[in-house]
Amino acid sequence: MQADLLNLNELFDITEGYIHVHGRRLVLHATNAFAQFRKDLIDMIGKKRARRMLTRFGFFWGQADAATMKRIFQWKDRLEWIKAGPKLHTMSGVGRVTVKSLDVDYDAGTFDMQIYLHNSCEAEEHLSIIGRSDQPACWKLAGYMSGYASYCLGKSVYFIEERCEAHGDGYCVFVGRDAESWDERLNEHLPFFEAEDIKGNVERLTQELRRKTRELARHRQELGLMQNAHDPFFAEAKSVSYSHIMHLASRVAQFDSSVLITGETGVGKEVVARYIHRHSHRDKGPFVVVNCGALPETLLESELFGHKAGSFTGATRDRIGLVEQANHGSIFLDEIGDISQNTQLKILRVLQEKEITRVGESEPHKIDVRVIAATNRDLPKAVVEEKFREDLLFRLRVIEIEVPPLRERTEDILPLARYLIDRLAKKLNIPKLKIDATCVDYLQTYNWPGNVRELDNALERASVFSQDGVILPENLPPEIVHAVTSRAGTTDPLSRTLAQMEQDHIRTILKLTNGNRSKAARALGISTSTLWRKLKEIEPETENDD
Ligand SMILES: [Zn+2]
Repeated sequence: MQADLLNLNELFDITEGYIHVHGRRLVLHATNAFAQFRKDLIDMIGKKRARRMLTRFGFFWGQADAATMKRIFQWKDRLEWIKAGPKLHTMSGVGRVTVKSLDVDYDAGTFDMQIYLHNSCEAEEHLSIIGRSDQPACWKLAGYMSGYASYCLGKSVYFIEERCEAHGDGYCVFVGRDAESWDERLNEHLPFFEAEDIKGNVERLTQELRRKTRELARHRQELGLMQNAHDPFFAEAKSVSYSHIMHLASRVAQFDSSVLITGETGVGKEVVARYIHRHSHRDKGPFVVVNCGALPETLLESELFGHKAGSFTGATRDRIGLVEQANHGSIFLDEIGDISQNTQLKILRVLQEKEITRVGESEPHKIDVRVIAATNRDLPKAVVEEKFREDLLFRLRVIEIEVPPLRERTEDILPLARYLIDRLAKKLNIPKLKIDATCVDYLQTYNWPGNVRELDNALERASVFSQDGVILPENLPPEIVHAVTSRAGTTDPLSRTLAQMEQDHIRTILKLTNGNRSKAARALGISTSTLWRKLKEIEPETENDD
């Protein structure tokens, strides 16, 4: 066989959906997609790495072609086999290839070949998307020629492109020599043929990525330790009102003023307080939480301010109070509206004089602490009723942040529920815990008097009762489901008959059992035939069975 006699039709077998050269499959590609791919490669991994990858891609392609040519034909001599490479390139549309010179000395083992290429597809790819190149850019083709010749010679042959259409030359010129015959010019081209560096780089990058991942995990862990159970709600809330609070809290955090956080029970006042602390200059200091409503007056006082041994029965040793423990940090006084007049006065002193006196001592201690207080009570009203000191209210309420109840920001319910579910999945070890879509209406319609805390508790209960980790409406606390279904009906009890109540209840149960009548009948404590009869009364046209 001679290279000149190669014929496209004989070589390529094209049947529907399958093109091959004697069993080696080929696919026709659009070169503009390749051009885009080339640009992506350069953008993503840099020009040098892109060139290396494309050179090696070409090298493998050339090797495979040389092997196929050897397998299919009996060549007149090895030179014809070598020349078949450029011929194949011409035939497959790479460009018009001319072998300008070819000199092989088998005894000396030397190889020297010069190839001209007109209308290079690769130069066109480069020009079309990247533009004129500052150096020859037919990387795949130089790789191809090297791979082809190396296979034929059984030793390393390298082609260097000396002129290129992409560089502004009239045509591309490639010179190929065996490694020993090349001068030092080869050195700058050699790395593009080698795989080691790619592997090394990938390994280096992988290690770097692993290190970063570990760092991130550690960072997250630290963050997790800093945040308490109710903390990350901030990130989950999507409503306008909550983002306003977040903005306010960030702003307030920068100043040392006292903050009063108001809102119903369970709205997450402590979350806001922690957020303020964490974003303040005191973030390296302690954050101490005191639930003022949980302790009787005498105990609260010694908890807050500490005591001297023997100052009261049971005080066997000196003790530092929580206010002192919060020194250089922040103290969060929850349910401040519940404290006695006496304790109010002492807290006022912390705010005014920045000092405390331990129970049973007369010498005050200097203290540097930021007070963040919270209440679900109407403090101005308590002032009018003389239950709360007006001067303390003014001191506490330098800045007031009101956290709205969950029912006034329904768009926060689902994101919060999903966040809580993720947390519960870990806590209860139910890996695939999720809320079924049928629960969404119930969660969003219920008015959540206990706010986020109630949502959390309701979801925990539902998780425990869920089957295979899927929370269905029937797993939700009954008050949530009932509140929603009764809202759908008439709300005025005086205008409802017993029959209407019964019908509503049947509808609720059917909804909860996804229309399964056997289950519904069991839940209602009646037989399926009774249920069927009652259903006919409700909706006479309903005839389908379960
Ligand atoms: Zn070129």
